[in-house]
Amino acid sequence: MSPTHAPANQSASSSGVVIFDHPLIAHKLATIRNQETPHRLFRAALSQIAGLMVYEVTRSLPTQKIEVQTPVTKTTCTVLTGTITIVPVLRAGLGMIDGILEVMPESRVGHLGLARDEQTLEPHAYLNKLPVDLDAGPVILVDPMLATGGSASAALTMLRQAGASDIRMICLVAAPEGIARLRTDHPEVTIYAAALDEKLNEKGYIVPGLGDAGDRMYGTV
Ligand code: URA
Repeated sequence: MSPTHAPANQSASSSGVVIFDHPLIAHKLATIRNQETPHRLFRAALSQIAGLMVYEVTRSLPTQKIEVQTPVTKTTCTVLTGTITIVPVLRAGLGMIDGILEVMPESRVGHLGLARDEQTLEPHAYLNKLPVDLDAGPVILVDPMLATGGSASAALTMLRQAGASDIRMICLVAAPEGIARLRTDHPEVTIYAAALDEKLNEKGYIVPGLGDAGDRMYGTV
């Protein structure tokens, strides 16, 4: 394939969805999509992409001015305010955490574990470990695959019920169906995705996608 020169910025729209359009992220995504990539390299690339995405995801975080004494003089600096909480959805969300914490090591990490109830087919929580003061600052929900949007929507509802008021979501690959579901259920949440794929197949996998993210990460294929 001949090289193309895509603009090195992400495409943001007023719809609350930001799809990254960046050569470095695209390059690492190619590694992740490749079925020959072993789980060790898959995990490394996933974590690196998460770290790169944080730069844009945090652009709108609240800040304040503080006075700092440099070795030369006093100056005014900008720092983040509020306590940031990262919430991975188990298990695949864990794969993006290290990359995010590398850039924002002070963040707290809550955990949500969701599984599909075989009777109702609705997602139910088997783990809900969130800080009690979730409204102390921005909350970033992390789940690499936004497929139907069912579990992401349930996770966002749980965050709201736990008191979160300022929420963003990071995913790696999104399907149009998942985006549509979240725009309906949680229109106030901005979604950041490294790629927007074509569709879901009959088994609920994202196409072209990358397969089961949890299995690819942990070698349980
Ligand atoms: N979850 C995954 O891990 N992969 C998909 O393609 C869809 C949901």
